[in-house]
Amino acid sequence: MDVYGLIGNPVGHSLSPPMHEAGYETLGLDARYVTFEPAADAGAEAIEAAETLGIDGLNVTIPFKQDVLDAVDPAPLAERIGAVNTVDFSGDTPTGYNTDAVGAVRALAHHDVSLSGTAVVVGAGGAGRAVAFGLADEGLSVRVANRTESKADALADEVPAATGHGLDSLPDLLADADILVNCTSVGMEEDETPVPADALHSDIAVLDAVYTPIETRLLQDAAAAGATTVDGAWMLLYQGVEAFERWTGEDAPVDRMNDQLREHL
Ligand code: NAP
Repeated sequence: MDVYGLIGNPVGHSLSPPMHEAGYETLGLDARYVTFEPAADAGAEAIEAAETLGIDGLNVTIPFKQDVLDAVDPAPLAERIGAVNTVDFSGDTPTGYNTDAVGAVRALAHHDVSLSGTAVVVGAGGAGRAVAFGLADEGLSVRVANRTESKADALADEVPAATGHGLDSLPDLLADADILVNCTSVGMEEDETPVPADALHSDIAVLDAVYTPIETRLLQDAAAAGATTVDGAWMLLYQGVEAFERWTGEDAPVDRMNDQLREHL
């Protein structure tokens, strides 16, 4: 049997086990997905322990995404982002990937959003870094806007062809933008949004990384403006799909994994 899993602290609320196990069941794979909760300072040790135990793959979540960089051989994108959320143990050394970046790209592609032009990424934390690098690698011009403008500037210095801004600039930044991704935690509380509704328009596609609630105020405003909307569960789904495919070498049964994820949200 193959064993995959997740390390995080806490991990009790994770949606990954039902999503991945639905995939194994659909493909008839003899595999399990288990959650582990190491002490908050033991991320690197957990990777070493998993390798010793013969675990096949691990997802990594808060607070370990940066800590485990030293315990793995990071893929170039994970190294640039500075965070790992997926570890593959099939090679001589554990390899670290960041599938959040690809997750956002595949979520947009699933909705037939053209991956070209200009993207506005709101937020410069972990999700903002991953999405900014992911979209830039697809060839988009990225504008990063963040409450703390200096963090947006610092991220924009690292991302090819990116610029950094404060949140005040959002109406100007969005006027001719093709894609907007909310990578702040704003939207988890009822009726809050990081983007003024009147800055949205029908020529933009809006992905909200927030997935609780599924239908955020931002997505409601975007739909009212006639924009294409993509909820955060699609990004969550595709970061998992990307890990699943890397570990198993099989095409993931995306529809089934999506159903399971949404059933548990
Ligand atoms: P993080 O590293 O803590 O970053 C938080 C970001 O939100 C920062 O840019 C912060 O700005 C901004 N922010 C926080 N409160 C704000 C406020 N009141 N007004 C304006 N900006 C505010 O968090 P993260 O890991 O990037 O996660 C961000 C969100 O993305 C969370 O809701 C998380 O669940 C979601 N997420 C979703 C997925 C997915 O697969 N769908 C994956 C990863 C994350 P400052 O720099 O100014 O503090």
